Amino acid sequence: MVGGIRIGVVGGSIAGCAGALAAARAVPDASVVVFERSSGELRDRGVGIGIQQERFRELVEAGFLDPSLPSTINKARQWYALDKPGPDSGLGKLIASHPFPFKAYNWGHLYRLLHDRLPSQVDYREDTRVVSAAASESGASVTLADGSIEHFDLLLGADGYRSVVREAMFPGVVPDYAGYLCWRGISDFAQVEKLLPPEAFFTIGFPHGHLVSYPIPADDGRVLYNWVLYSMIPPDLADLRTATSIPPGAVSDTLLDFMDALLTRELPPVWAETVRKTAREDVFIQPIYDFEAPAHAEHRMLLLGDAGAVSRPHAGAGAVKAMQDAATLLRLWPAATGLDDLAARYDAARRPADHAVVALARRIGQAQVLDAVDWAAFEQETFMPWLTAQMELPDGTEIGGRGL
Ligand SMILES: Cc1cc2nc3c(=O)[nH]c(=O)nc-3n(C[C@H](O)[C@H](O)[C@H](O)COP(=O)(O)OP(=O)(O)OC[C@H]3O[C@@H](n4cnc5c(N)ncnc54)[C@H](O)[C@@H]3O)c2cc1C
Repeated sequence: MVGGIRIGVVGGSIAGCAGALAAARAVPDASVVVFERSSGELRDRGVGIGIQQERFRELVEAGFLDPSLPSTINKARQWYALDKPGPDSGLGKLIASHPFPFKAYNWGHLYRLLHDRLPSQVDYREDTRVVSAAASESGASVTLADGSIEHFDLLLGADGYRSVVREAMFPGVVPDYAGYLCWRGISDFAQVEKLLPPEAFFTIGFPHGHLVSYPIPADDGRVLYNWVLYSMIPPDLADLRTATSIPPGAVSDTLLDFMDALLTRELPPVWAETVRKTAREDVFIQPIYDFEAPAHAEHRMLLLGDAGAVSRPHAGAGAVKAMQDAATLLRLWPAATGLDDLAARYDAARRPADHAVVALARRIGQAQVLDAVDWAAFEQETFMPWLTAQMELPDGTEIGGRGL
């Protein structure tokens, strides 16, 4: 394929950095421009990301990840539920425990690893918002917030679940609200460590929701406690149908009070206490959405990561999927006869794989949140068949994602 081309990337997070890296490696004399609307704060996002170790290894081999990425190890996944309400119930009932081949990472470390790998041919422009994108005869163009227009031979849409590139490709295709949300927070693991069993990835179930929590590495050598509390909420509490998230400091008292009452009512006291170590003003909300774009490529525009398909977080595969999109693009590039052929090959390779992850995550969300499960009634022998039936599709897609 001829070099010297211009490749634009909208969005400079996990999918954007990985996509720019793929483009720069595939076409070393291309000029690659990344447009990222935020300025600097991406580096500091401290939330947790779980990555299945076989998926991690594949991405190391593909040249995107590195084994030196700081992690915490989970020896097992443990599942609990409240079985006898009251202050003495402690951790609650241990329903089940099983091996869990995931490690936990800090989102900010992952972002920096990918960002720092970008070669000098990549022009990464922070604080630069793309207002719209459009296909052109020779590629695609973007209009920036200052009114300027830039043309590219190929445009990668890595701009997340509210993608403007996707809007140019498939107007009106937007994520669907799944009917529940999650509150998220971080605290110092030293504050909770003594309360918890060692080295596990925890899930605490209650009807129409569950808490997921695990330690993650911090920047300064400390360990942080990362938690995500999923629950359905009454529809009149907040209108979440339009894709959005609510940052720390902007969550209403009504939603924080609802969470507090939920902790008291549904969680064994130790788990409620661990969540309350995060100050109210630091709690943030991510409503749960999912969707699949009709295709991952149209003309010379390609979708990577959440821009092309959002899977509910239960599959623990969104960041992996974003990097796999980029790794696949890199793998397909040498054999493609031109950029149109590359786009068609990319769509054929990634659309089924990404859609399968969305379907798996939807199934887990249905079983573990939308259906009213009596968690405390489970024993290890009854729980494991129930869980295993949710966690894998016949095509090999499993929690953590599908193999590259
Ligand atoms: C609660 C929760 C837990 C999760 N846990 C896991 C997990 O354990 N494991 C896992 O693999 N995945 C997990 N995920 C999913 C994972 O976080 C996402 O799938 C992944 O981060 C998506 O990356 P992305 O780069 O595609 O999108 P984003 O991270 O959304 O990045 C999009 C970027 O584009 C920029 N942008 C958007 N619009 C514009 C514009 N118009 N102009 C310029 N820039 C723009 C944004 O500022 C942003 O930086 C979780 C998600 C949630 C909500």
